[in-house]
Amino acid sequence: MSLPTLAERALSGLACKLDELAGGITRVRLSSRTTRLNHMQVALYRVGELLVDTGFARARALSLRALEGQRLAAILLTHHHEDHSGAAAALAARHACPVYLRRPEVRRTEGLDAIKPYRRLWWGEPGEYGPLPMPERIDAGGRALRAVPIPGHSASHTAFLDELSGAVLVGDLYISGGATAVMSHEDPYESIASLRRVADLEPARMLTGHGLSMERPAAALREKAARIEAAAGEILRLHRAGLPEREICRRVFPGGRAKDRFLELLTQGEFSRLNLVRACIRRAP
Ligand SMILES: [Zn+2]
Repeated sequence: MSLPTLAERALSGLACKLDELAGGITRVRLSSRTTRLNHMQVALYRVGELLVDTGFARARALSLRALEGQRLAAILLTHHHEDHSGAAAALAARHACPVYLRRPEVRRTEGLDAIKPYRRLWWGEPGEYGPLPMPERIDAGGRALRAVPIPGHSASHTAFLDELSGAVLVGDLYISGGATAVMSHEDPYESIASLRRVADLEPARMLTGHGLSMERPAAALREKAARIEAAAGEILRLHRAGLPEREICRRVFPGGRAKDRFLELLTQGEFSRLNLVRACIRRAP
């Protein structure tokens, strides 16, 4: 595979930051000019010989370079979305190691078959990496990660608890603290349970798929679960009172409508708070 030329790098504005975190975890943060426009970066983490997530296809040369000379025994994906799995094929080939993903079959039902143009523009075209089913515990080089299912954002979603440092790597379980815009396939009730499941592990630190690091995150995770639960309760109450979905959305989320509309427009309706309203109604227990 050819590395991007200097001109391509300059045009795409690809950037890579490496930090050594507590507990001997290396964080690699990737961004491009397009992702920075939306204040977005993507993170991958090396825990001993295990790699959690890979970054996006457009930045695969940077992921490869960041891990050059390191021994990788396995790649573990928090979920299959292409911003986290886009360089899995290239890294697995370079390091001759397997890629593990929980419920790999949902890749075809949660949108990878028909990636919308904005996602291709942002993240590039992911390679095919033939994932193996996720084991419950992954051991390599004296380090072990425990796989904890956290469906909601994606049915394939998994958190990894590092038994040595107490850090938990959660992918997109926690992007921000509120009840926010979601993709149309997301299940907010499963997200609530997953947030509480990770909080109950009482992790020392949380590391997210978009580069956030938070010490003692249990309270923040429970707070987010409570906010989604409260929003879902209000959405169902208004739905039973006969209000249409857009009106419910306006009442439950009175602020930030312009930003939400922009996100909805930008993502061709794939990400919105209206999706959260619809999911709360459709998936009500
Ligand atoms: Zn995701």
